Amino acid sequence: MARHLRTRADPWKENARKEITMKKTLILLLALCLSATMLTACGAAAVEYQQFSTAFFGTFDTIIIIKGYAEEKSTFDRVTQEAQDMFIRLHKVFDAYNAYEGINNLYALNENAKNGPTPVEPELMDLLLYIKEEQPKTQGTVNVALGSVLRIWHDFREEYTANPLHVSPPAADVLAEAAKHADLGDVVLDPEAGTVAFLDSELILDVGAVAKGYAAERVAQRMLASDMPSFIINAGGNVRAGEAPLDGRLYWGISIQTPDGVAPGEEGSDMLDTLFLAGTSVVTSGDYQRYITLDGVRYHHIISPETLYPADYLRAVTVVTEDSAYADMLSTALFLMPYEQGLAYVEGLEGVEAMWVLPDGAVLMTDGLTASARSHGATALE
Ligand code: AMP
Ligand code: MG
Repeated sequence: MARHLRTRADPWKENARKEITMKKTLILLLALCLSATMLTACGAAAVEYQQFSTAFFGTFDTIIIIKGYAEEKSTFDRVTQEAQDMFIRLHKVFDAYNAYEGINNLYALNENAKNGPTPVEPELMDLLLYIKEEQPKTQGTVNVALGSVLRIWHDFREEYTANPLHVSPPAADVLAEAAKHADLGDVVLDPEAGTVAFLDSELILDVGAVAKGYAAERVAQRMLASDMPSFIINAGGNVRAGEAPLDGRLYWGISIQTPDGVAPGEEGSDMLDTLFLAGTSVVTSGDYQRYITLDGVRYHHIISPETLYPADYLRAVTVVTEDSAYADMLSTALFLMPYEQGLAYVEGLEGVEAMWVLPDGAVLMTDGLTASARSHGATALE
């Protein structure tokens, strides 16, 4: 079934964007003409946008790169400083492993919620409300209440990194015992009071499947409302594109990484393909993002709630949809499904496209995504 990305198929949006850019140009032109004493030829004046770029470490275990088009570097610096401050704040709020003075974060919640209603920061409440709404739609794949199982895997990877000779993978019975304490229904939210309580004292929440995308979306919404709406945020495997670049291109080029051991795409580098898009998110889940190899077996970070071991249906899956939190949730969900099930699932969703890399290296994508893929002839200009 041929379906289209909202961002490419919505000519109104594209026209509206052009119109806004044109309006901006006209307003500036008018302003310049009003101070005509300084100008000899008003008709020749035009707005010059420049691309700027910045990068920072320290949040969400990844480097975050932001590019944007602005008339002045000072505009870019101001908008991206605010973005960075938001990422720092959200990183602390969603951190499951560290406490921060004065912040009722996920770590504090996991420590205290078994004893009764525990206050949480508004952003954490908002994320948990979102998850309560969306998780049940993921066909039993994503479960943020699986933290006690995910922590065993996390500790195993950490121990291996510290001392690879004396580590063995978690035993099935230990995992099964932990999995008895993973019912999201036991997480009770009270949005009015701003508190969360766990009815199961051994339950642990892990929001790693959605937190980065959720954070990127909040930052993107702020930037879209700023005076620099033309931007792109790259947070590891999590890309959020704002309005189109202001250099004549219609789309940003977003490269998809080739999983190790898979033949690279036509571009010849370690890039599998490039997607040309604007006003949307591109989020990838893959077995190469966080893993260790022990006795020839790869143990990565996305755990099947059925087997309680790393899922092996796919090498990677990329989701394209406007909302970055949704894209992040779906990328993890799709990684936990066989390709056929995932394709049927995505085809039932509105405004979602996807691209899969199977264990044998085969690359498949939804029909609607081909219009945006360099491998199918797409460019940044059409
Ligand atoms: P992502 O890279 O977005 O697919 O998210 C992977 C992260 O989600 C892992 O590092 C874990 O923190 C978490 N995770 C792994 N398996 C699951 C699962 N079945 N349900 C919910 N979260 C998971
Ligand atoms: Mg995810």
